Amino acid sequence: MGGLLERVAALQDVTPVLIALYDTEDRVRYANRAFREAFHLSEDSFPTWAEIIRLNYQNRQGLIINTRDFEAWLLSAQSRRGKQAFRGLELDMHDGRWIWMTETVETDGWMLCVGTDITALRQNQRSLRQDRDLALRAAQTDELTGTSNRRFVFARLADHAENVDKDIEPPFSISIIDIDLFKGVNDRFGHQGGDAVLRDFVKLAHSTIRRPDYFGRVGGEEFMLVMPRTGLEECASIVGRILEKAAESRPFADHPEFSYSCSAGIALYKAGEGSNELYHRADRALYLAKQNGRARLEWIVN
Ligand code: GH3
Ligand code: MG
Ligand code: MG
Repeated sequence: MGGLLERVAALQDVTPVLIALYDTEDRVRYANRAFREAFHLSEDSFPTWAEIIRLNYQNRQGLIINTRDFEAWLLSAQSRRGKQAFRGLELDMHDGRWIWMTETVETDGWMLCVGTDITALRQNQRSLRQDRDLALRAAQTDELTGTSNRRFVFARLADHAENVDKDIEPPFSISIIDIDLFKGVNDRFGHQGGDAVLRDFVKLAHSTIRRPDYFGRVGGEEFMLVMPRTGLEECASIVGRILEKAAESRPFADHPEFSYSCSAGIALYKAGEGSNELYHRADRALYLAKQNGRARLEWIVN
């Protein structure tokens, strides 16, 4: 048995795990090498926890203590320290490490503190969070133009139709906008030329819509605009402005004569209807705009 305890003792000065034992006066009675290094305790010193922390604060080393009133901070920390049989807490260290420190308190008040370096773990979580954010953004974005994709605007539309408070909020409107004779653009300028026109249109649409509006690409050369708190007239005026800007745009510097147009259908939300019915009314209005000669907007009341 003696051999085993010696091994444990030897390993305690090798391990990067922080180990310390405090008595009922909160004085260090044992601390391994890793603990002494982390909190800047000299060898064979046995200070109280408050003395360690005060020195750390004065010398800006060891534990990071973000406070302007150290005594108040200390009091508050002491009021929580060693009161439970077990607790764990995260410590930020001046050397850049994050330590997960545990406190195990015996019934007689002696306390064992064991801390492990969780910096890598926390960084992993951070990169996981970043990956998740990037994946989320990719899932909601149209790769070609950078605007929202079909999934995102349709989800927003469905949300909006479900949650709109008919009693308080004014109505909301949507528009479907489709680039006219777009096949011809591809035929003349190639697929890349067509792509450039799509990007041109998205840019000018974004410069016209207001911040609360949702805009996105819902098909090849088809876009949807969802306008919360917007009646048909206001919707028509903003969509009309987008159509004008498209007609004025000259997307190809080396073909200054080339321009394109768009057609749009708009529809006003009716209390109780689902987002699909609203979408189909706007789509029927778009079809009407195409039939009536393109480069215009139409709406269908019923
Ligand atoms: P209309 O005025 O009736 O809308 O005629 P249109 O030619 O615009 O409509 P049509 O639906 O006949 O053609 C759409 C074309 O859009 C066909 C397709 O090849 C092209 N298209 C779809 N997605 C893309 C894309 O991402 N890039 C490019 N360059 N073209 C695309
Ligand atoms: Mg088209
Ligand atoms: Mg189309």
